[in-house]
Amino acid sequence: MGGLFGVFSNSDCIEDLFYGTDYHSHLGTRRGGLTVKNFGGFQRYIKDITTTQFRSKFEDDIKKMHGNKGIGVISDYDDQPLIISSRLGVFAIATVGRINNLEKLAKEALKNGSHFSEMHGGEINPTEMVATIISQGSTYEEGIQKVLDMIDGSCTMLILTDEGIYAVRDKLGRTPLIIGEKLGSYAVAMETCAFPNIEYKITKYLGPGEVIFISEKGLEQRIAPGDRMQICAFLWVYYGYPASNYEGINVEVVRYKCGSYLAKKDDVEIDLVAGIPDSGTPHGLGYSSEAKIPFSRPFVKYTPTWPRSFMPQDQSIRELVAKMKLIPIKELIDGKRLLFCEDSIVRGTQLRDTIQRLYNSGAKEVHMRPACPPLIYSCKFLNFSRSRSELDLAGRWGIRELIGKDIDDPAEYIDPESDNYKAMVDVIRKRLQLTTLKYQKLEDLVKAIGLPKEKLCTYCWDGVE
Ligand code: SF4
Repeated sequence: MGGLFGVFSNSDCIEDLFYGTDYHSHLGTRRGGLTVKNFGGFQRYIKDITTTQFRSKFEDDIKKMHGNKGIGVISDYDDQPLIISSRLGVFAIATVGRINNLEKLAKEALKNGSHFSEMHGGEINPTEMVATIISQGSTYEEGIQKVLDMIDGSCTMLILTDEGIYAVRDKLGRTPLIIGEKLGSYAVAMETCAFPNIEYKITKYLGPGEVIFISEKGLEQRIAPGDRMQICAFLWVYYGYPASNYEGINVEVVRYKCGSYLAKKDDVEIDLVAGIPDSGTPHGLGYSSEAKIPFSRPFVKYTPTWPRSFMPQDQSIRELVAKMKLIPIKELIDGKRLLFCEDSIVRGTQLRDTIQRLYNSGAKEVHMRPACPPLIYSCKFLNFSRSRSELDLAGRWGIRELIGKDIDDPAEYIDPESDNYKAMVDVIRKRLQLTTLKYQKLEDLVKAIGLPKEKLCTYCWDGVE
């Protein structure tokens, strides 16, 4: 997906920028980038973080950087931040989102005399497309509003100029953006887990489409938020970091509640509750505490060398990594009836192997309780590395196995009370060799988050846009 972090300070900002950006590392696997503005101009470093973590890659570079304002990015896709020379002046820009109409926008821009230089795999770099549209405005605000209006998909961004930083949240707020403050400095983050250890306190959650300019004058609202919000509900289920808050709602707390709602509707007899590490763990703790059944860790993660939550792009390496980093503990598995909570079942490929390893270690029964409903639709608003093809999603292969073909409109498999839904879930259960499989109901997931349903994007599960 990608993460953004920026700092405006009345002193050097490099240390805060470095650690704040690093706290977004769970959101991307490919590129890391830092740009600062100082008296000499813009100073920028972009590094490949596919095999080495952001912090080790940038440790030497930050010694050469200085400046009182800067932006950082962790990208799952293109090289960023870009530095653009435009009629508005020189600016650096970093974006997170997805542009579905990139080709159409590029054609229009080329027709109007624009050119593109930062190609990504033979395609136009989406961040450069955004920068091109901004440059067409007579002011930054006008250019930013054009981007928000023209893009089909989503775009949250940071723009670093001579004077300060524009913090721009996506028009429908699919991704969050939050401002923190400490004496003499402001920071802007997608993940508020970046704030406590560098001593920022949350000052403001940007609304959907809101634009705040951070400069020596402080915070100025340049574009007011819109009425409609569609923040990604999956942030709370899986993508977000446990110590982060969006819309004032903490991720870890929502995950406990998810587990608790699963337990309230369950009557299965088991010996132990567990979570698939790491993100399944809080859901499992919530279940265990509600059901008053002990929580245990039949799988532990080998964190010294497998610390990252995201997986490599290559499927076979991904499977190997998934296997190697989870170590089973036979004493907690042998002869036991185990219930596992999991954030979600995306394709189920790795999960099937994980479950088989439990049986190999002597598990008597394995029950699974995903914290969200079956995934039926793949995300078309954000770039995620997890759900590449819609037809690979567990819900979709469940339907395919059930009726022998793919269908264009899977809407009749969404209602958990319907026979179609129950049959689809049973196919998934059998393929994964689970004793029982019960998914969270969407209404309970929404209750666990605590925002009204109409403010959340739940498209993955119900296809509602
Ligand atoms: S479709 Fe799913 S992953 Fe994408 S924004 Fe909506 S809830 Fe999030």
